[in-house]
Amino acid sequence: MRITQLSRKNIQALTPYQSARRLGGKGDVWLNANEYPVAPNFSLTLNNFNRYPEAQPQAVIQGYANYAGLSPENVLVSRGGDESIELIIRAFCEPNQDAILYCPPTYGMYSVSAETCGIACKTVPLTEDFQLNLTEIEKALDGVKVVFVCSPNNPTGNLVNREDLIALLEMTKNRAIVVIDEAYIEFCPTATMVTELKNYPHLAIIRTLSKAFALAGLRCGFTLANAELIAVLQKVIAPYPLPTPVADIAAQALTVEGLAVMKQRVEEVKANREWLVNELTASALVEKVYPSEANYLLFKANNGQKLFQFLWDNGIILRNQNSQLNLENCIRITVGTVEENQRTMQAINQFA
Ligand SMILES: *Cc1c(COP(=O)(O)O)cnc(C)c1O
Repeated sequence: MRITQLSRKNIQALTPYQSARRLGGKGDVWLNANEYPVAPNFSLTLNNFNRYPEAQPQAVIQGYANYAGLSPENVLVSRGGDESIELIIRAFCEPNQDAILYCPPTYGMYSVSAETCGIACKTVPLTEDFQLNLTEIEKALDGVKVVFVCSPNNPTGNLVNREDLIALLEMTKNRAIVVIDEAYIEFCPTATMVTELKNYPHLAIIRTLSKAFALAGLRCGFTLANAELIAVLQKVIAPYPLPTPVADIAAQALTVEGLAVMKQRVEEVKANREWLVNELTASALVEKVYPSEANYLLFKANNGQKLFQFLWDNGIILRNQNSQLNLENCIRITVGTVEENQRTMQAINQFA
């Protein structure tokens, strides 16, 4: 018997997450994973690697709580925001019984994590302007334990209307957990739903150091929620989820100085994003540039597939969104350095 056949049926059927790194590519302009384009400068201060780390390192938890305007009891730190998605599914969904619900086109990890855990996925497509279809969500809620909403939404870049998120929280009371994925909230901080935690015990918010904090390689993310929900997740998280070097650098990133550097980066990314919006809009073969509140842009091109391939062949690696629901001929581009953005636009205009 082959080993594969011994694996669980849902794992045999699973298509793993197609991460930017897994998709590969060859070149020196990498604008496909919404990373910050330049490495930040950190050095380790701890060297007690013979000891197990703190399960929830106090400096990191306190640092994030201060940053988010919450108490330490409202914060869980994990191996990236992706681990938070899986923890919530594992803790709240009964295998082969419960379902999650999400609204495509959106982030791919909600379904991959659910399928890994043997949890069914229900989808209610976003409306034409990438907002929630609340009527259809309400109809689909039977058996749903967790609803995932990404805002700003990846890959479309827009915020989900606050009043719709409130309506969703109202309609799911005593029924399901609502997860708002705020991986990109640093680029539009006033839109955060953290202020609603006091009103909704079933709200969980996902955050990460991978985007505006420029630390995707660190693998550090957070769940923000009321103490009771955090305590449930504490039961299922690994005993020592955060390696000592990760906690060390994360704590530094969350100091007053670290936060100031992050905010500077956000301003710079936003300025470069505006440049890209103007250039893409002016380009003959770009049909539409979608408004973005994040560090990436979605655009629709004539012959988007061919353009994507042309750029790929020329060492400019973007993210093809053509196979996502309602995103034919769409490409997502991460805002890069001034030079990377210029090279990309030169190549695009060369194709045109
Ligand atoms: C990047 C991202 C995350 C989390 O990434 P990690 O690197 O695992 O912290 C979560 N949600 C969305 C929508 C993202 O784009």
